Amino acid sequence: MARFAPMRRDNRLNYDAHLDVALNRLHEEGRYRTFIDIERERGQYPHATWNKPDGSKAPVTVWCGNDYLGMGQHPTVLEAMHEALNATGAGSGGTRNISGTTVYHKDLEAELADLHDKEAALLFTSAYIANDATLSTLPKLFPGLIIYSDALNHASMIEGVRRNGGAKRIFRHNDVAHLRALLAADDPAAPKLIAFESIYSMDGDFGPIAEICDLADEFGALTYIDEVHSVGMYGPRGAGVAAREGLMGRIDIVNGTLAKAFGVMGGYIAGSAKMCDAVRSYAPGFIFTTSLPPAVAAGAAASVKHLKSDDTLRSQQQTQASILKLRLKGLGLPIVDHGTHIVPVMVGDPVHTKKLSDMLLEDYGIYVQPINFPTVPRGTERLRFTPSPVHGPEEMDKLVSALDALWSHCALNRADMAG
Ligand SMILES: *Cc1c(COP(=O)(O)O)cnc(C)c1O
Repeated sequence: MARFAPMRRDNRLNYDAHLDVALNRLHEEGRYRTFIDIERERGQYPHATWNKPDGSKAPVTVWCGNDYLGMGQHPTVLEAMHEALNATGAGSGGTRNISGTTVYHKDLEAELADLHDKEAALLFTSAYIANDATLSTLPKLFPGLIIYSDALNHASMIEGVRRNGGAKRIFRHNDVAHLRALLAADDPAAPKLIAFESIYSMDGDFGPIAEICDLADEFGALTYIDEVHSVGMYGPRGAGVAAREGLMGRIDIVNGTLAKAFGVMGGYIAGSAKMCDAVRSYAPGFIFTTSLPPAVAAGAAASVKHLKSDDTLRSQQQTQASILKLRLKGLGLPIVDHGTHIVPVMVGDPVHTKKLSDMLLEDYGIYVQPINFPTVPRGTERLRFTPSPVHGPEEMDKLVSALDALWSHCALNRADMAG
């Protein structure tokens, strides 16, 4: 029996040639993406096994994961997942509307609404879908809506805004003066919404939440914040940066993920009961897809609950991030430090970035994925490290000395020498 169905031979266009062109373009620009095949081992994270392309295996330490607090292997989370799996089986068996709403989904939504001090929360299969589905649906709810979107917003927000067919204005990243000018230029009577992030995950900088809320008040706009890189990690209960700064009451819609600091999977929005009800009723990305497996919802709820009451991992993560930044700065490495937990080291060239990443992996067993266009602008290619409570002194020592050696070996700029 043939392993693959035989190729159809006919007189269609040469579709394969188009695919070759598209793929070759990426190779030529040095930004063809290769996925590193790793096996995580419960209890051992950030240590993992790398399944090499040649079939052999090697131990690696993961330094680029978004399981920021190690909750993906936390006993409380796993226990809740096992329990739900044994109790209910694998999948939910339906969309939320047609037999796919369970006590686990309801509990998780209640947990999330409480986390953000909002009346309600609405679950999606990911935060990408939550952003895309919500932002593309809002103009149906507010005819004539103008969305003001930060230039560095995540791809999921850009897609949602792009697809909704409504008016949009892009303001320069974190530039509230530009945002004000755009707001002032539009019809005061038009419904408006400002979409931004609390932490921009590639530079690791904060959004000016208070200033944006002030502008929203002045111009009568709704506020929409993506807290994907802060939920679980900031604020006394892990509700994010807006909560830490006492600004949650001024946010109309907050978006978060259950896949990063919470260590599981899924996304959500939280807001007023009416807002969530309307999105629930109108967003195709919510309506026409199977709900999360109950075990996933149970694990996420356990994670949210745990991080609400326990501050230990949050503060350990901040400590680890500060130590790593201090040590890399000490070596003069060009790191970007805006005071968040994310540690980007700028390289500024896709080929060099890939090469550094390859050498770290092959020679040192350190796994950090190169970050290139379109995730970041061309010329700002980088390595992005995500220290966590599970990266101890030994892992940190190895990383710092490997980077020091590679920077010398490749004669790369150090910040103090570059001025
Ligand atoms: C990762 C990410 C998302 C998407 O979250 P998922 O739950 O993984 O789909 C949304 N917004 C930002 C800023 C992100 O970095």
